[in-house]
Amino acid sequence: MGIQQIEVFPVTLRYKEPFRIAPEAHTESHNVIVKIVTDYGVIGWGESSPSERVTGETAETVIKAIDKIAPKLIGMCPLRIEQTVEMMDSIVKDNPAAKAAIDIALHDILGKTVKKPLFMVMGGYRTQVQTDITLGIKSPKEMAKDAANAVKRGFKALKVKVGVNPTEDIERIRLIREAAGEEVQIRIDANQGWTPKQAITALNKMEKFNIQFAEQPVPAENMKGLIEVKKNSPIPLMADESIHSPQDAIRLIKAEAVDLINIKLMKSGGILKGRKIAEIAEAANIPCMIGCMGESEIGIAAGAHLAAAAKNIQYADLDSDLLLKDKLVKKGGTKVENSMRTFPKQNGLGIKEVNEKLLGKPKKIYK
Ligand SMILES: [Mg+2]
Repeated sequence: MGIQQIEVFPVTLRYKEPFRIAPEAHTESHNVIVKIVTDYGVIGWGESSPSERVTGETAETVIKAIDKIAPKLIGMCPLRIEQTVEMMDSIVKDNPAAKAAIDIALHDILGKTVKKPLFMVMGGYRTQVQTDITLGIKSPKEMAKDAANAVKRGFKALKVKVGVNPTEDIERIRLIREAAGEEVQIRIDANQGWTPKQAITALNKMEKFNIQFAEQPVPAENMKGLIEVKKNSPIPLMADESIHSPQDAIRLIKAEAVDLINIKLMKSGGILKGRKIAEIAEAANIPCMIGCMGESEIGIAAGAHLAAAAKNIQYADLDSDLLLKDKLVKKGGTKVENSMRTFPKQNGLGIKEVNEKLLGKPKKIYK
């Protein structure tokens, strides 16, 4: 039982509309798809959706890192994921989004080999996952309109991007709460856009709009600032850019710098280490969310299966495939109905048919 072939496909997926967050805006997501073929007929799909801003990776660096790793994977047992992850870490430092593509494909193979949906193999704590939908930065009035639309589409939680300037951000939240009604959860994400002082002011003024939690108010490297905001914020704080790895999670939990953690497979290096973060956090009574970068249905399915499997992943922000105009997966993956991600009966990640035209020919084949 061994890995026989690895194919690597760079893909460009367009967003439905420009997606803006505090530090930047995107019209496309540049991802790398990995297909791993085994010698017993099972194939696995994986995806990397690198963020240069968060981990310093691009599609090009992902392809370079996989070029070092892939030849060593040929002949290895695809089910020995822990061993493979150790091997990847010994060959290439960092590059978590590149490693995530391999890790996800191996988990897909695991599910298909034992003939079960992946979340069932990994523990099967829940059978569906509620996701929020993200509102990118626009004028406060436009965002209120987007909020009303999202509620109409059945979403029960809105993730609102802020971090531009505190006065305008407070106005955003006021209008969005008005448009969305009282029942809907509102969580905010400043993407490191505020200073600690601005964050403390904004969060105290936003309290009355009933905010569930606030993600990454201050720059990732400013742990002191994060601690100061946490001490003075009436709203629980979630770390995103501050925590990539299990080691980061321990460091911030020990420093009492966070109330919640946003796990992303592209920061952790895939499902295996994403799960380690969830378990470390569980032991410290810190609930987790699973988030995403710009993944297609493949990477989103990976996040959803992990979220369904792990008890401590209590929230999900798994919506990038919904924000993309280009659909890489024609059949299979997860479905969204009334804000719930549900899983088809297929094994592994459940990817049944990929859009061959969008995928194109492999840039590299290792065998
Ligand atoms: Mg975030």
